[in-house]
Amino acid sequence: MPRMKTSVALVGLMAVIAAALLAALVFSGPNLPAGQKTTVATTMGILAEIVDRLTEGEVPIYTVVPAGVDLHDWEPTPDVLVKLRDAKMLVWLVDGLDDWAVKLAQSTGVRAYMVSRGVQLIELSDEHVHNHKHDSKHSHGHYDPHLWLSPKAMVAVTENIAKALKSEFPNLGSKIDANAQRYIQELRLLDDELSALLKPYRGRVFITQHNAFQYFARDYGLKAVAVFDVEGVEPSAQHVAEIIKLIDENKLKVIFAEVGHESPVIQSIAREKGLRVELLPTGHADITLETSRSGKGYIWMMRSIATAVVQSFG
Ligand SMILES: [Zn+2]
Repeated sequence: MPRMKTSVALVGLMAVIAAALLAALVFSGPNLPAGQKTTVATTMGILAEIVDRLTEGEVPIYTVVPAGVDLHDWEPTPDVLVKLRDAKMLVWLVDGLDDWAVKLAQSTGVRAYMVSRGVQLIELSDEHVHNHKHDSKHSHGHYDPHLWLSPKAMVAVTENIAKALKSEFPNLGSKIDANAQRYIQELRLLDDELSALLKPYRGRVFITQHNAFQYFARDYGLKAVAVFDVEGVEPSAQHVAEIIKLIDENKLKVIFAEVGHESPVIQSIAREKGLRVELLPTGHADITLETSRSGKGYIWMMRSIATAVVQSFG
């Protein structure tokens, strides 16, 4: 997992950005439409799904981080700057995840909206940040950014997105309100469904690849333990030993890897302890507008996660 989230990289990026913007302006030519800024840009696919549901296809949507790319390691690229020229607004989620959106928005004149206001964030503690490199130059926040794995948190996110969309597209106000109510109702039903499904398993442990499931675990009374910390730093031998102890104590049969990013460390723990490796979607970059429109969106993902976790206890 390459990590270059340094201010030096960002400064270099700004130079590239300026060049890319200039090139784009030159090549767009005078005969092309002046480019009414109507696009809603979002950093990640799950936010794109909400914008799509709320606006019902009335606005073009552009997701900045491409499908399948590790959201934690992503760096802005010049083509993004060109695409953002058509954007009216850029929706981002939370510090420590996609806060590069603020600088990106500033350099392109797009208004940025942070949409996690009102969510009770989980503070990163040593328990959650195994092997955290305190001298690292990463600009991560002090809170766990994986709040989207909580349907309750996504109710607040949806409300914030609705508010932001209405301020940019006042003519769509009543449509956005009606659709937001509908989507929030779906989230509440999902939350009820998952609560009922997971209730018999309160206090149970499940082991995942990177530390993305603390909000999910908090909502449903489970204990999520990760091999890799929030930032994906390699586990120490001591941490692997703790994981193995937990596997024994809880008689676990499954260890979860991640769709598209299976780690060899997971494979080796699984081999050592005779565990099945199951894949969990995480929504970092595996939910896109396309998967969402074809029925494999956020709600499908949360159901898949809950079902897989329940099956791992069987
Ligand atoms: Zn993550």
